[in-house]
Amino acid sequence: MAKKAVKKALKKAAKKKTVKAKKPSAPAIKLHPSIDKGFAKAGLKNFAGGTLTCNCATDPVTVALHSQSAHNHACGCTKCWKPEGAIFSVVAVVPSDKVEVTANGHKLHVVDTSALILRHACSGCGAHMHGPVRREGHPFQGLTFVHTELSKNKGWSPPGFAAFVSSVIESGVPPSKMPAIRKRLKALGLEPYDALNPGLMDYLATAAAKKSGAYREA
Ligand SMILES: [Zn+2]
Ligand SMILES: [Zn+2]
Repeated sequence: MAKKAVKKALKKAAKKKTVKAKKPSAPAIKLHPSIDKGFAKAGLKNFAGGTLTCNCATDPVTVALHSQSAHNHACGCTKCWKPEGAIFSVVAVVPSDKVEVTANGHKLHVVDTSALILRHACSGCGAHMHGPVRREGHPFQGLTFVHTELSKNKGWSPPGFAAFVSSVIESGVPPSKMPAIRKRLKALGLEPYDALNPGLMDYLATAAAKKSGAYREA
């Protein structure tokens, strides 16, 4: 009996070894430096914000955020700012009245004044420092999009999903890489969506339905 058990264990170990040998650990596909090595699953309790600093070596733009971030997520769209070499951007929101440009604001310019998100980029390094939504009546009005990776403060809310995943093809990612990218996002705990996540899509559709009069409570 004991012999049999030992044999079984050895067999199991051998099996494990061959399985491992068959799968050489291919380097995980790189998505964004702040998520590639994994990340905290929750923000710090009672975290009240911090300062974003652009990447300029001299006279950097600084932006104080007097609030924890919300709805942090990876974004595959072509408009959100991403660091060199990243496939995704990581972007969150804070209430616009909690955003304060504290230094070198003269270096900021709006990338596209017709876009919903008025992304304020640094003319020196290109980093997007804050992106308020000011469109009258839009459900996101009063929110500002920010990249908390530009802050040295620790405790920001971590990304919770991946938005506009298919759009990375528009920035030059080969379509053949999409299954591996979605698999990697899932492994990181970031459910991939090709628009926003269901909660935010429902929120937007609800606002549209209320505007058009089609909204029904039950
Ligand atoms: Zn800069
Ligand atoms: Zn985006």
